[in-house]
Amino acid sequence: MERFTQAIEFSSTEKTDIIDVTERVRSIIRDSRIAHGIVTLFTTHTTTAIRINENERGLLVDIKRFLEQKAPAFRNYRHDDIDQRDVPEDEPINAHAHLKSLLLGASETVPLIDGSMQLGTWQSIFFIDLDGPRRRRMLVHIIGERK
Ligand code: ZN
Repeated sequence: MERFTQAIEFSSTEKTDIIDVTERVRSIIRDSRIAHGIVTLFTTHTTTAIRINENERGLLVDIKRFLEQKAPAFRNYRHDDIDQRDVPEDEPINAHAHLKSLLLGASETVPLIDGSMQLGTWQSIFFIDLDGPRRRRMLVHIIGERK
């Protein structure tokens, strides 16, 4: 059994930024030379998410609207009561982003067969920043066997 882990680092550019990382993940899989196994995509932040869905411009707008409806940016959130917490002065007001992340999830797993992720035609892998713009990082972790 082989294993290969690589981080993808980048800067998000919007408050809610849906970034298609599918091609970067494919490139890492090629570098790993692992052909059969499991690819895990994992975010190391509490206000981001990893999800698989369709990269269609209208749908990306719909996803942002849906998330905003589920957890509006400004509500009477306890996490945003900065005076009640021992935090740095530049602590972001971001309870909504934690809640959106909770709904979406921090990881996805994709089967790897004959060197190819078994994504459907319309499936793309998204890194979703819910409290951008910021410097962010995700992990691509591959376990399996070479050909
Ligand atoms: Zn927070």
